[in-house]
Amino acid sequence: MGRPSSKSSIVSQFADKLSPNEYKCKLCSKTYHCGTGTNANIRRHLANAHGKTNLYSKSQVPRNPDSIAPEKKRKFDDAAIKAIILDSHSFGDFRRAGMQSFLQVAMPGYKGPTARTVQRNLKALIQQLKKI
Ligand SMILES: [Zn+2]
Repeated sequence: MGRPSSKSSIVSQFADKLSPNEYKCKLCSKTYHCGTGTNANIRRHLANAHGKTNLYSKSQVPRNPDSIAPEKKRKFDDAAIKAIILDSHSFGDFRRAGMQSFLQVAMPGYKGPTARTVQRNLKALIQQLKKI
């Protein structure tokens, strides 16, 4: 007997259990085999094919496709912080609504440095700029 969980009951809304290891998707009538006692495959199918992303198990949650590589983010942060220093912006300016909507279009996934990030990097960057 599997223990009842909210995810299982959501699955049963969208899929019929045909056998202990077989589920049929009610939304597209495809049949999915799962290991006995797990509905991971049908849950992944419901999430991927039908947008039921709340059914992903924790390990299945996909990375945000918009998220950017850490090296890239650091490079953007550096450039953003330089811009803040050069133009005397407030540290948190990149997180303001106007800049956020610009960044969403220009660099999807990049949100700009927080005021804290700016502060943390400020000292090092000022040193760098002095050398230029
Ligand atoms: Zn389906």
